[in-house]
Amino acid sequence: TNKPKIVVLGAGYAGMMTTKRLTQKLGPEEAEIVLVNKHNYHYQTTWLHEVAAGTINPNRSRIMIKDVIDTKRVALIQDSVVEVKQDEQRVVLENDEIGYDFLVIGLGFEKATFGIPGMEENAFSIESVDKSRLIRDHIEYQFSRYKNEPGEKDHLLTIVVGGAGFTGIEFVGELAERVPELCKKYDIDKRKVRIINIEAAPSILPGFDEELADYARKSLAFRDIEFKLGVMIKECKPDSVVIGEEEEEIKAGTIVWTGGVQANGVIGKSGFELTKGKVTVNSDLRAPGYENIFILGDCSWVMDEEKGRPFPPTAQLAIQEADTCANNIYALLYGGELESFIYDNKGTVASLGGQHAMGTVFDQKKLYGVTAKAMKNVIDDRYLFLLGGPKLVLKKGKFRPF
Ligand code: FAD
Repeated sequence: TNKPKIVVLGAGYAGMMTTKRLTQKLGPEEAEIVLVNKHNYHYQTTWLHEVAAGTINPNRSRIMIKDVIDTKRVALIQDSVVEVKQDEQRVVLENDEIGYDFLVIGLGFEKATFGIPGMEENAFSIESVDKSRLIRDHIEYQFSRYKNEPGEKDHLLTIVVGGAGFTGIEFVGELAERVPELCKKYDIDKRKVRIINIEAAPSILPGFDEELADYARKSLAFRDIEFKLGVMIKECKPDSVVIGEEEEEIKAGTIVWTGGVQANGVIGKSGFELTKGKVTVNSDLRAPGYENIFILGDCSWVMDEEKGRPFPPTAQLAIQEADTCANNIYALLYGGELESFIYDNKGTVASLGGQHAMGTVFDQKKLYGVTAKAMKNVIDDRYLFLLGGPKLVLKKGKFRPF
């Protein structure tokens, strides 16, 4: 056929919403749409800290793609993207190759370890459902070992979390909820367990409102999370981290790195120019130098012209980019001006475990505790509604705020 072929890589927030918008804007006779993803499901990346801690079932975070995307309109290919060959307008997959007229890349992030020795090999990371479930299982296994092994073994109950950004903080909050349950299950004295958050910056949640960050730190410290702030991790060994100028060694049964992310490795491999691990896209979200390639979500930086720096990578940003991307593909097909992306910041709420949370909404109004938690649930449900309507909210939603 002569229909233009639009290929979307990655079924994350950016990829799913772009695909959805494209099916709403274009009829079957107008374009062929293909969605490529590693799995046959989409997952809620923003819930992975809960999967990793074991406070929600991994299945809760997954949504079958065919349940929310019309597969009569969109061809789904379950495969892994290996490389994009821009010159030939082709995408190399693990098991196949496909051509495209327009390409949308939404392959998400992977961990960046900044060359810290041993971090790549020895630390877990919260990157996908599979990797998050592995953390959950590993922690539980260490608790089980503690009950069964002889000798000095207290370190099995130590969990080190590197990085006090959004993911690190939300994760230790979930651990604060999970640990008492595990202690009960394995009959372990709770005082034996240590959860240590290590951050190189002098405070947690760098870039976040100071008052809110302070609230979060106190709330977590009250629930026995230890903080080591202004402290660098020098090395990560299989069962310890070496920290600070004095090179203190902390033995730990579980080490999770949340201290940095970069674009999916496919981006660099495909020869796109990277700044700090991601592609800085034009204001119309296209990759510089390419007429027909859009890079969205955690693979790219979009400049916040007002502040002179890129917007922080969030699901909220990825979802909004999808609208601009779909509109711009439409403009490329039918003529007309391409629009510049404009971000509408609706605020950010961080969960701190259980009914604890904090964040900002609307005009930077600050929320704390259960009110913030209720707002977090509203944000999660709003996305489910956009993606799959009321049916999906009923099935996966977090509509019980209290
Ligand atoms: P993703 O949603 O990560 O999707 C990428 C997709 O690509 C995945 O489905 C993956 O399976 C697929 N994929 C990857 N590699 C390949 C390949 N080679 N081939 C085929 N498919 C592939 N943001 C907020 O706004 N609010 C929050 O509260 C929040 N909390 C967070 C909590 C945690 C624990 C984490 C980790 C992040 C959080 N974020 C939050 C950030 C947010 O999740 C990301 O910014 C967002 O997921 C980016 O969306 P994306 O579409 O770029 O990528």
